[in-house]
Parts: sequence; structure tokens; C-alpha cells
Amino acid sequence: MNLMLEKFSSFHTLCVGLIVFALTLFHFSLLPSYSYYFIWQSTFVFLLIALGLSVYFNKSKLFVLLLFPLFFCLSLAFPTSLFEKLSVTAFWHIAPLSTAIGYLVIYALKERGLFSPFGLVRTLLGIFFLVGSYGALKYFSPEMLVALNHPILHPRISGISNSGDFALIISAIALLFVFGISRLFSVQSQKAPFWMLIAQLIPLLFLHDKNSFVLFALTTSLIAMAALAHDAYRMAYIDTLTGILGRRALEEAFLRLGSRYHLAMVDIDHFKKFNDTYGHDIGDDVLKLIATTLLEVKNKGKVYRYGGEEFTILFHTSKHETCILALEEIREKIAKRGFIIRSNDRTSKTPKKEQKTPSTKQVKLSVSIGLASARKGKTPHEILKSADEALYRAKESGRNCVISV
Ligand code: GH3
Ligand code: MG
Ligand code: MG
Repeated sequence: MNLMLEKFSSFHTLCVGLIVFALTLFHFSLLPSYSYYFIWQSTFVFLLIALGLSVYFNKSKLFVLLLFPLFFCLSLAFPTSLFEKLSVTAFWHIAPLSTAIGYLVIYALKERGLFSPFGLVRTLLGIFFLVGSYGALKYFSPEMLVALNHPILHPRISGISNSGDFALIISAIALLFVFGISRLFSVQSQKAPFWMLIAQLIPLLFLHDKNSFVLFALTTSLIAMAALAHDAYRMAYIDTLTGILGRRALEEAFLRLGSRYHLAMVDIDHFKKFNDTYGHDIGDDVLKLIATTLLEVKNKGKVYRYGGEEFTILFHTSKHETCILALEEIREKIAKRGFIIRSNDRTSKTPKKEQKTPSTKQVKLSVSIGLASARKGKTPHEILKSADEALYRAKESGRNCVISV
């Protein structure tokens, strides 16, 4: 499983874990009733921290979506000062509807950052929704209750929720919509709203208990914070183009290195010519393919993009021969592998008008590799320099080969 897939699945596992944990705590009454006093306090604190972090990371979707649980927690915490008298029936009918419709609209708008006209529009829209919800809660009438409870679904299905068929249908649409759209993104702050919506709908549709709502609002804030932490990790350590670990992650790995390791420098052969022939965009695509092929290196080699079209492979072993074998194998794999590209055989000097219609074509590429072993008294940076010198010799020896020092 490649690294991105691991990150992706670990975040989803974490969200499911948090939701199941909250559900277990509530369902089996594992928390003594006095502990809910602290949970109420912590929920406000965590929601405010999550809101602060989404401002810091300029994530307008998360920011506005977090205003929903904050508003409803405040409504439950101050039912008389905010509403004169908040009707419990009104809360359990309006809150799920407002949350589901809010997510549908807020999530549909493209993320362009909080401090932009789009961010402002999203925030105003969120506030507009919450003001509407406030009005609906304050002026909830028996007619509204009848309308919201109007039977639409089969009684067996509508029986699963206590909030009326309308809320159930809109919630299902919102969940499907957010799930569908979230699959298009690779960053967790865009995926998190699906889990945040689930966390909010569980108490709103099924549990109808104030404490459960607050417990799940806490869960929602934790999901948002986990997503921001994942994205921050990604920004710092993962190379944006290839999706593999970047130079910063390599520097970090150097701090933890023992005395037995090998470092290899890998450089694509004649890549400048490739770019000039097929264009920089196709060059980028091939760079990604070579990066993913390198991940298949054996002997537990860890691959980093060092920069440009150069990669570093770190082996945590003192066995020189096994490293050479793994590198020879991956070099051969790349050299034999054809890269299918859509080509219009252009050179950078060919005017666009004269370019032929695109056709698919298979091209071959190779890499040269320099390998160096850890030596007493030498820092990882010095060993990397030796690997680079070996790489230079590999280039001089005709390329498409592995040279070790
Ligand atoms: P050789 O290594 O075999 O000596 O030849 P080369 O042509 O690969 O030489 P060099 O390492 O000097 O050139 C590196 C080229 O890699 C320059 C640049 O066009 C290309 N390159 C570097 N980074 C990127 C990138 O992110 N995307 C693309 N498409 N090309 C890149
Ligand atoms: Mg180079
Ligand atoms: Mg090169």
C-alpha cells in the first residue's frame, strides 16, 4: 500500500473510531452524569480551538461548518437567555434540518480560502442559515411541527428517526452529496465534513439527548482538528507533485539515523531533453510515474523526492549487496517499462499552430543511481554527498547504471 493510501485510510479509521467511541460512551452510559459538566465546557473550548485553527489554515469550509455545532451547543446551553423558552421539540426538528441543508449549501461552494470574497460569501451564507435557524427555533409553531412530520416515507423507515421524514430525507441527500464530492479531494480538510456531518446527525436524528449532542459536537471538533493536522503534515512532508515524501522528511529521517544505513541518489537520464520534446506537463506526469515505480524498491528502501528529477532512497541496513540488488532491480524495471504518453511531438520551439494532433506513444526512460554506505565519523549529509559523487560517475559511465562508493 503506498504512503498516500496509508494516510488516507488512517484518517478515515480515526474518524470512524472517534464516532464509534462517542456512541459507545453514550449508549452504554459509560460516563457518570457529573462528567457531562466537563464535557460541555471542553466542547466549547475544542470548538473554539478548531475554529481558530481553521482561520489560521485559511479553511473557510471547516470554519463555517463548525459554526453549526457551536450555535446549537449555545442554544442548548442558554435556552432561556437566548430564546426566552427553547422548545425541545423545536430543537430536535429544526437543528437536523438546518445542519443538513447548511452542509449541502456550504459544502457545495468551492474552497477559495477564508480571506477572499468567496470566503466572505460562505461565511455570510452560514450566518444567514444560523439566523434563519434561530428564527425557526424561536417562533416554532404547531403548524411547523405538523408540516415537518408530514409522512413521506414508509413508516418502517421513518420510524428510525424521531425528527420527521423531511429531516431524514434531507439528511440522507446531504450525506450522499458530501460523500460524493469529498471523494474528489485528496486533502483531509475537504474529506472531514462527511464525518463531521455524520457525527452531528447521529444525536440530531436518532438520540435526541442534549448530552449526546454535546458529546458528538466535541467529536466533530476533534475530527476537524485531526483533518487540519493531517493537512499540515502533508504540506510539510509530502511532495505535492509526486505524492511521495519530500526533502524535509528526509532531513527529519537523518536525525533518527543509526550507524547502519545506505543512501542512494537517483537521477532521471536526459530529462531536460524529454521535457523539451514532450513538454513540461508530460514531464510532470512521467516524474510521478517514476516516483511510484521507485516506491516498489525492495530491501525496505524508503523513497524521497530530493528535488527536481532527483530522488533519494534510504536503506536501514548495513548489507551493501542487498542494496545493490534492490537498486539494480528497480533501475532495470524503469528502463524496461515504457511510459505511454499523449504526444504531439513538439519541441519547445515549434509554434502551437503547427503542432500535430495528439497521438499516444510509448517512450523509454532510464535512471542513473549512486550508492554510498554509512561510515564512522561521517554525517548523513556527507554520505549523501558521496552518493551524489557516485551518481556523477554513473552519468559519466554512460547512464542507466548503479555505481557505489
Ligand atoms: P542527465 O541527468 O542525464 O545528465 O540529464 P538531464 O537532462 O536530466 O540533466 P539535469 O539533471 O541537469 O536536468 C534536470 C531537468 O529536469 C531540468 C528540468 O527540465 C527537469 N525538471 C526538474 N524538475 C522538474 C519538474 O518538477 N517537472 C518537470 N517536468 N521537469 C523537471
Ligand atoms: Mg538532475
Ligand atoms: Mg537528470
